[in-house]
Amino acid sequence: MRQAGWFAGITVCVALVLLSPLLCWLVVSHWFAGDAPSETAHAESIAALEKRLAPLALPMLAVQRGDWLANNDEPGQTFAQYLDSHPVRRGENRSTLYICEVGSFNEEQTKILETTYEYLALFFDAPVRVRKRLALSEIPTRAQRRHPQWGVHQLEVGHLLDRVLKPDRPADALAYTAFTAHDLWPATTPPERPYNFVFGQASLGERVGAWSMNRFGDPAQGETARLLCLRRTLGTATHETGHILSLQHCTAFQCNMCGANSNEEGDRHPLYFCPVCLRKLCWNLNVEPVAYLKRLETFCLKHRLVPEAEYYRRAVRALTKD
Ligand SMILES: [Zn+2]
Ligand SMILES: [Zn+2]
Repeated sequence: MRQAGWFAGITVCVALVLLSPLLCWLVVSHWFAGDAPSETAHAESIAALEKRLAPLALPMLAVQRGDWLANNDEPGQTFAQYLDSHPVRRGENRSTLYICEVGSFNEEQTKILETTYEYLALFFDAPVRVRKRLALSEIPTRAQRRHPQWGVHQLEVGHLLDRVLKPDRPADALAYTAFTAHDLWPATTPPERPYNFVFGQASLGERVGAWSMNRFGDPAQGETARLLCLRRTLGTATHETGHILSLQHCTAFQCNMCGANSNEEGDRHPLYFCPVCLRKLCWNLNVEPVAYLKRLETFCLKHRLVPEAEYYRRAVRALTKD
């Protein structure tokens, strides 16, 4: 889990289709199908992937005080262990990433959300659909508060998970995620570890999660701030959805699936998945790695994510050279 958390693509079409007075669906991006290889060829292809990309991977950094691994003894997860865990896999009955937008977003935050949807669609090779938009006036007063000391407005994350998402999750949902720019707090926490706020919370067995970009900085404060907010949002969106696909925290290399206790720690992690986690993801999605990585490179170039674009370019070269 990332305690710090959140969200960016190719918006192919934006079509508002009113299905009922209470429910609307906004198709925000299309998913790329058509390059799924046969199972046998695919197994060979992704087995080679982990080995050929290993020289590009960055070794883990020394654990610092306050880091995730300083307080959580985690062994990591090999590809074989991942398969043994009977992971949640994208397929016909787990096909779509659904979104619920909660409250209001400013102009720059809205752009980051749109870019995040584009990225999620590419990263998980699945359509992303905004299923619901929930106004603050639709959230009961018991699930909203002013923080007793800080005075900041907060939404109760358990309400979003249990009352908003779970009863409304479509049958074909790979995941159903609430995004908000408002701060979140959990009403139910252990008395010895009361939380003033959380970046987000998920119920992995239920494939639902709620995440806030409130603490990712103000993207309207210039290009550096915008890029930082974007990177944090993209990183958290893919990290948490990775958990829903049963990927555990990574301890093999520096990786987006490494645990993080803070924004500062999360900022040290790359946005991309290391070779071990990428192999799991390519198996899960049944995607052909080279075409998949090229799409991510194109996305990163388009959105000025320069180090990430360079990593994907080198990865494609490593997989295609003789
Ligand atoms: Zn995590
Ligand atoms: Zn990894």
